Amino acid sequence: MKRYPLRIGGQAVDPHGNTWFETQNPYTGQAWAEIPRGNAHDVDLAVQAAHRTLTSGPWAEMTATQRGALMRKLGDLIARDAAKLAATEVRDNGKLLAEMQGQLNYIPQWFHYYGGLADKIQGSTLPLDKKGYFAFTRHEPVGVVAAITPWNSPLLLATWKIAPALAAGCTIVIKPSEFTSASTLEFAELFDEAGFPPGVFNVVTGFGAEVGTPLVEHPLVSKISFTGSDATGRLINEQAARLLKHTAMELGGKSPNIVFDDADLEQAVFGAVSGIFAATGQTCIAGSRLLVQDSIHDAFVERLLAVARTARMGDPMDPDTQVGPVTTPPQYRKVLEYIDIARSEGAHAVLGGEKGGAPECGQGWFVQPTIFTEVRNDMRIAQEEVFGPVLSVIRFKDEADALRIANDVRFGLAAAVWTKDIGRAIRMSERLQAGTVWVNTYRAVSFMAPFGGYKDSGLGRENGIDAVREYLQTKSVWINS
Ligand code: NAD
Repeated sequence: MKRYPLRIGGQAVDPHGNTWFETQNPYTGQAWAEIPRGNAHDVDLAVQAAHRTLTSGPWAEMTATQRGALMRKLGDLIARDAAKLAATEVRDNGKLLAEMQGQLNYIPQWFHYYGGLADKIQGSTLPLDKKGYFAFTRHEPVGVVAAITPWNSPLLLATWKIAPALAAGCTIVIKPSEFTSASTLEFAELFDEAGFPPGVFNVVTGFGAEVGTPLVEHPLVSKISFTGSDATGRLINEQAARLLKHTAMELGGKSPNIVFDDADLEQAVFGAVSGIFAATGQTCIAGSRLLVQDSIHDAFVERLLAVARTARMGDPMDPDTQVGPVTTPPQYRKVLEYIDIARSEGAHAVLGGEKGGAPECGQGWFVQPTIFTEVRNDMRIAQEEVFGPVLSVIRFKDEADALRIANDVRFGLAAAVWTKDIGRAIRMSERLQAGTVWVNTYRAVSFMAPFGGYKDSGLGRENGIDAVREYLQTKSVWINS
């Protein structure tokens, strides 16, 4: 079985305790590789390496233009290795090969975009209210960044942190999810090949309590950039507040996908299906609450079923597969539990509602694409993040009713509106409490478009020009002239 090393200070190293744990393929249920079980000692080595590189040596002395060139080279290497990295993520995470190829082909553009931004970070001169002084601002790297990432899209979500942090001149220690660490370890090898000085990018794998906590609490870490569940996010934010560290939090969602009776219904059906079943529903932006106007409710559900019923579960490497396995055993149990909860609350399963069976699902952790109707927005199935292929259909009367239901949830990551009425689209996009609002589309993201949560879905923004600010601090320089 393949055994990965940690990546610290530009070296492949074994974990301090010489222990590894197995990582499984969600389609076969079988272990396929061994991941280093890091601990506080490894975290300390990695943070020390990142801090040394931040404060002295070639990275600290490099011009921003040179840093940008390294980032673009890294982007090119990711493009070269896209097929290999995509295959690793499919094996480790269970996402469809087609989706992973799409992601890996897109990731290089983050490094090209932020590489281009690296030398456009400028301070300003200040028109002071005091005579005899000259003053200006400098934007400097915030320090060593601890990036903590979830299992659902390991490299894409890591990239959303790494690219702007490098553009700002920071150094990074990343802790990927214990369920899907392999691709991040492979990705780290490309940093050396691109020519980054040792210590710019370090990977310590392992568990939350053994690696995550010492990383968050390390005195030389200045910023924690976290993507994951809101429960873990809250905990990390409490620790960070006590230690006065900067944080950015990308957390969960329960996004409303709102279909008005004047929408292009064919488009809306595909938006609803891909909104919830893509990546087996394991995305923070899953359109897990489908709000359908009363006047078209029954006809729309019929059309939705006609498409969703044909969704083919199976081997994620097979190009004909449309729904892959759930990524982890605890998540598999959690999704099935929520299906039971929905039934006990009185929701009606019009599709799925069971485990996926043989032969197409092999020994994998499959849950059938599931659609519940008769859902009220106050049910747990409509309020809590399931993070699986489970859709709740909720009726609404009119625009005001749709808005009330859509916003009546503690999350605020994304929302979508399907309508041909431009006035309604604008009114809804103004009033929906969500960091991203799509009109007549779903799941679109770009390195250019700021992404992040309202309410309990997070703090701060990733992507777009302003994401670099998350990794900078400003210094005012006064000169007595
Ligand atoms: P999780 O919170 O369980 O774990 C996320 C990461 O935190 C993992 O690396 C984990 O090991 C680490 N961790 C756990 N306990 C820790 C601790 N005490 N200290 C430090 N680190 C700790 O989340 P998950 O199950 O891996 O991911 C799914 C969640 O992520 C969902 O809620 C989903 O909505 C969210 N998510 C959000 C976004 C976004 O951009 N808003 C994107 C993807 C996923």
